[in-house]
Amino acid sequence: MKLVVATRNRHKLKEIQALFGNLPVQLIDLADFPDLGPVEENGSTLQENALLKARAAQRALGLPAIADDTGLEVDALDGAPGIRSARFSGPRATYSRNVDLLLEKLAGVPEGQRTGRFRTCAVYVDDRQELIAEGAMAGRITFEPRGDNGFGYDPVFLPDGQEQTFAEMPAELKDRISHRARAFGALRDALERNIFPITKEEAPAQTH
Ligand code: IMP
Repeated sequence: MKLVVATRNRHKLKEIQALFGNLPVQLIDLADFPDLGPVEENGSTLQENALLKARAAQRALGLPAIADDTGLEVDALDGAPGIRSARFSGPRATYSRNVDLLLEKLAGVPEGQRTGRFRTCAVYVDDRQELIAEGAMAGRITFEPRGDNGFGYDPVFLPDGQEQTFAEMPAELKDRISHRARAFGALRDALERNIFPITKEEAPAQTH
């Protein structure tokens, strides 16, 4: 059974592959379909945008598809950039311009008030049903970027309970604890329950 991951973001794809390793499906991504144009993410919620991406891939390719949409909500900025996280610094936004703008807007905000969270909505769409799951990771925005791993706002996001930003920690740790891990973990559970039940023979042996 093939399952399309409706993203062209290699970082996301790797994170999702790590999480879906044990499902009885073959993950394929949009790199194999260069003619498929970008989807306009004009929904007003993370869920709407995730569904737009997954439905477009499902319709175009005739295969079940999964997609996510993620936003960083910063409390001192009333939840911004939120749904606008990708384009925070305007039409010519890049990861580093977005990070610079975020730090600029938080200049003078003390450590205790730099709280926020990444929120991810992950969805599955086939020709008969749609499944929706969410995950969030709370943390703080640092004063300076730290680390070279990951992408997006990772260098300035210090998850609660950790001493390293998402960009400083090993990818395996981010993959285990992140907002995306939580959302896709919940989606994977829903898929196992509803769509791809693991048969007794495939299920890992119980330990006592
Ligand atoms: P997207 O629409 O889900 O691709 O995410 C919107 C923006 O949020 C991206 O352009 C990134 O800047 C940021 N983003 C999404 N996921 C992450 C993450 O795991 N770490 C850091 N930034 C992220």
